[in-house]
Amino acid sequence: MRVTTIFAVTLALLGCSPDATTDARENTAEERGLTAQVNPDAGPTAYVNGLWYTDSGNGIEFVAGERHANNGVFVAERPADATVIDLGGAFVVPPYGEAHNHSVDGPGTETAAAKYLAEGVFYYKNPNGIYSYTAPMLEFWARPDTLDVSFSYGGLSIDEGHPEALYRMLLGYGMYSGTDADNLDGNAFHDVGTLEQLDEKWDFILSTEPDFLKLYLLEYDTDESDGLTEDVFREVVRRAHTYGLRTAVHLETAQDLALAVDAGATEAAHLPAYDLEIAEDEARSRIPDGVIEKMAKQGFIVVATTNVSQGREYGAEDLKTVMDRQADNLGRMKAAGVPIAVGSDSFFQTAWNEIQSLKALDLFSDEELLQLWVETPALSIFPGRAIGALEVGYEASFLALDCDPMTDIACAIKIQQRVKSGQVLEVDGNEGAEGS
Ligand SMILES: [Zn+2]
Repeated sequence: MRVTTIFAVTLALLGCSPDATTDARENTAEERGLTAQVNPDAGPTAYVNGLWYTDSGNGIEFVAGERHANNGVFVAERPADATVIDLGGAFVVPPYGEAHNHSVDGPGTETAAAKYLAEGVFYYKNPNGIYSYTAPMLEFWARPDTLDVSFSYGGLSIDEGHPEALYRMLLGYGMYSGTDADNLDGNAFHDVGTLEQLDEKWDFILSTEPDFLKLYLLEYDTDESDGLTEDVFREVVRRAHTYGLRTAVHLETAQDLALAVDAGATEAAHLPAYDLEIAEDEARSRIPDGVIEKMAKQGFIVVATTNVSQGREYGAEDLKTVMDRQADNLGRMKAAGVPIAVGSDSFFQTAWNEIQSLKALDLFSDEELLQLWVETPALSIFPGRAIGALEVGYEASFLALDCDPMTDIACAIKIQQRVKSGQVLEVDGNEGAEGS
């Protein structure tokens, strides 16, 4: 919706004649600072006989027609020597996003990535991984025919705060082979308990070239907190902004969220209160309307991760307590226009599970779920990229679906064909991942 709306506004301002529309659109992607990744291996192609996902600003429509691409980018004119691909009347949508999971990083995680591609997720964000484990794979993830992944590497917290404790446990399970337990600080997390420690470590944190920063608030306003203090948190967010780095914040409570919003962070890596103990406590779990209004005004993103609670194995009544809280908070965010992204944070599952968890909250129509999933990549994962729309100047990446995902969201993963950067993507289980 955002992209199309801005197109429309820009075109109106330019007073474009119909003939100039195409050029203006091409310029607009650039003017907006969006970059389409070019793929020199993708030749001129015409994709005919598709029903193309079109966001009118007033909802989604599928519009019959054709698209043309060259070098992996949609172009206005059909190239003279184009290879023609007949989409057979398929519903064509932009690829989806996973805005929070940790299952794709270093060697051995190609299988997890393949499952995502099979389900139509081309863009993935890992907010906390082990830098030394991930670094050897960065060239692989940068290829046009692999999952595109955005990494924060080590998150900023304090000694033995959430990331360190978690990675010690995972190393104990035999994960991340080759990683030494003594080599976690500065690698899987950064221990910044004080402003002095932040000064000492800041240059090193930047030297790992993270795509964004992950910050941990763990009930910062309580004595038991083992996350960042308010002072350090605010200073990190301030510095990150001066370097143009986005900040994703792990948070537990409504209070943590209020601080993240007030400090001007980019996004919440969770909806607060995914655990029962906090969800039961209205004072810590109900997000005040004033905070929600501020989120909407700032464009502060929430990555809902409602699927985390489904994995907790609560009894029916306890799960209902958590889901009711999620539905209340998320419902008011939706009504206020807070940008919501799809992220599962479920290691052995995928964003498709999160879509199903969101559906179970009964807040979103199938059309709205599709829109959330399609908009997640440009919103939360690769905000600078010309992705998420099937228009001239955008990357020629799309999914051809068997049936209409607006009337049945299960159609979103009934995928006949995947095209990424202008090339047909071959994945294991090419028929899709129905029933997973
Ligand atoms: Zn996580």
